[in-house]
Amino acid sequence: MATINENYNKLGAGYLFPEIARRTRAFIEANPDAEVMKLGIGDTTEPLAPSVIKGLHKKIKELSEVETYSGYGDEQGDAGLREAIAKQYSKRGVSLDTKDIFISDGAKTDSANIQSIFDLENIVAVQDPSYPVYVDSNVIAGRTGSFNKDRGQYNGIVYMPCTEDNEFFPELPERKVDLIYICSPNNPTGAVATKDQLKRFVDYACENKSVIIFDAAYSAFISDPQLPRSIYEVDGAKECSIEINSFSKYAGFTGVRLGWTVVPQELVAENAEPGKINSLWNRRQCTFFNGASNIAQAGGLAALTEEGQKECQKLVDYYMENARIIKEGIESLGIKAFGGENAPYIWMKTPNGMKSWDFFDKLLNEAHVVGTPGAGFGPSGEGFFRLSAFGHREDIEKAVDSIKRNLKL
Ligand SMILES: *Cc1c(COP(=O)(O)O)cnc(C)c1O
Repeated sequence: MATINENYNKLGAGYLFPEIARRTRAFIEANPDAEVMKLGIGDTTEPLAPSVIKGLHKKIKELSEVETYSGYGDEQGDAGLREAIAKQYSKRGVSLDTKDIFISDGAKTDSANIQSIFDLENIVAVQDPSYPVYVDSNVIAGRTGSFNKDRGQYNGIVYMPCTEDNEFFPELPERKVDLIYICSPNNPTGAVATKDQLKRFVDYACENKSVIIFDAAYSAFISDPQLPRSIYEVDGAKECSIEINSFSKYAGFTGVRLGWTVVPQELVAENAEPGKINSLWNRRQCTFFNGASNIAQAGGLAALTEEGQKECQKLVDYYMENARIIKEGIESLGIKAFGGENAPYIWMKTPNGMKSWDFFDKLLNEAHVVGTPGAGFGPSGEGFFRLSAFGHREDIEKAVDSIKRNLKL
């Protein structure tokens, strides 16, 4: 008699994006002539950089000939790519052993799977609001109780509010926690943690033998040289932090699929000496994963050449100009907006204290623009709304123009 993993039944019925799609479809059906514009997507829209295309073609050619064909690679990833990634870190003064770096098929998979090497008794803390994967993966694993509808939270998870008052970076948790998820630059708030802010968490984690899981998927969008692009820029972080990153947003690999995770050999936990957690993740990957696509890895390597980096930076700059246009447009209406300076997301305060789903409907009905309600990312997202800078320039300009002309404030 087979039985299912009942933890799945605890998950909220409506994942955020299906509900957005449902409301958008309903609007289009009722208003077939309206042109709906999207500022809601967290997906890249511009073509791959020329160097990347060249790298991909080269690999395809190799695969097409018997002398250069290759099959399975190392589960940990191509050695050259791991070295190229280590070299990027060294530019920021962070020295990593290539053995600390594991190539993946993207940051989402790793951020969902990383919890599996930790005991179910660990108490999980997340930023509120946050990228839904951290919470949902721990719900499925059985590390939480049921969903509390009144509080909008799962029992057993520690939510660390990120609010206007704390500049969208949390205070240290009041109770002792074991696994701490931090995302910087943050999706959805667009806030970037300073070194001092991260240092407080690193010190806490070292003192309490907690582990920080640091999602740096948007690190390439940081232009302020003072802001850390990696948690390892903070002293002591190697002993207490795992870092997850991706080529998705930096190089437009959302469809190509490539990322990496750093599990330093220095990392420790209550019952884990240095090297142990690194070996656990290695074991996990060798068992459940057969390596990222060799084609994707060739593309990633090309994205990290000097020329590739320059071209990818241009893509990042393009999206950041979109961000500037959106933020300026929103602020010109007297609406308060955060983020959008070192991150491709603008976190706007809903006008007149509206609920974020009510504002979703208002924006769609009046301006025909789709965004993302902040409440969908956690209870502290209520009263906020996420606008995404991913999109073609002319679509972004059209959407902002429509908001300026049609939104009734
Ligand atoms: C987009 C995104 C990722 C990247 O996921 P991939 O699986 O690499 O495409 C990771 N974390 C956050 C917070 C994101 O927004």
